[in-house]
Amino acid sequence: MSKLLLEVDGLKKYFPITDGLFGRKKGEVKAVDDVSFNVKKGETLGIVGESGCGKSTTGRLLMRLIEASEGKIVFEDKEITSLSKTELRKVRRDIQMVFQDPYASLNPRHSVEQILEEPLIVHGIGSKEERKKRVKEMLEVVGLSSYHARRYPHQFSGGQRQRIGIAKALMTKPKLIIADEPVSALDVSIQAQVLNLMKDIQKEFQLTYIFIAHDLGVVRHISDRVAVMYLGRLIELAESEELYENPLHPYTKALLSAVPVPDPDLKKETVLIEGELPSPANPPSGCAFHTRCTECMEICKTTRPTERNINGHYVACHLFNE
Ligand code: SF4
Repeated sequence: MSKLLLEVDGLKKYFPITDGLFGRKKGEVKAVDDVSFNVKKGETLGIVGESGCGKSTTGRLLMRLIEASEGKIVFEDKEITSLSKTELRKVRRDIQMVFQDPYASLNPRHSVEQILEEPLIVHGIGSKEERKKRVKEMLEVVGLSSYHARRYPHQFSGGQRQRIGIAKALMTKPKLIIADEPVSALDVSIQAQVLNLMKDIQKEFQLTYIFIAHDLGVVRHISDRVAVMYLGRLIELAESEELYENPLHPYTKALLSAVPVPDPDLKKETVLIEGELPSPANPPSGCAFHTRCTECMEICKTTRPTERNINGHYVACHLFNE
């Protein structure tokens, strides 16, 4: 079995809801509510779900861009949640992020060279000459040319800007890249190019990816395993092929039935999700999906289902609890 790079155990992030006038705590939003998973070296773990399901918050917790309310994050035997600022800086060289909107994450007043050099300067890596050399190398790796280094973000197309975002993430030679909806803002034709680029880079640099997206079709192309989240909880996790061929959780089935199939003759079962996504500030009792599930039973309304491991296919649903 491949070695684990990252282990997440019982991760929670509750955001307080406060009274505007006096700042008193009125409640909390359970953005991430007891999530556990691991990531093997060299694999791509996809995390999918509707907006507000906690997938992006999970990504930010892993980088410690926000602090967890509870739980453990172990990266290469180091417990990230308890690291000092200095230790955390070292780990951040190894974990980088690619964001959905490259335009917002690239400083418009900086040239591409300044943008790409920045992570090296922050981490005190290399001389000026070495940094310039790496900028050129990484631009070539992502399919751009060295003369692009003198240009500014607004002079590029959306796809090229995402290539710059990827080059920036690669500058510190990371081991793990957390890509948060990296192709969602791009045209469909460009999406495939960026996904292929990410796959090539993964092979070349033996990278591990966490690929966060709302689009199951996109996640399928790149992921070895896929985790599905709903209202802050992880409800199903399996090998990509297994999850798409044999989804167990009613929510995953519904999500998959909404993904268009390229072959019009191929019949697939349509499962509708009823009703609106409940507010994470007031999630339903028991199974959080029970208000929209067509297979809801009495126990689902009161008791949160525990996760069951069926030959490496994890599912949290009473239909599969013994
Ligand atoms: Fe549906 Fe119950 Fe399973 Fe939740 S636990 S998904 S309500 S069957």
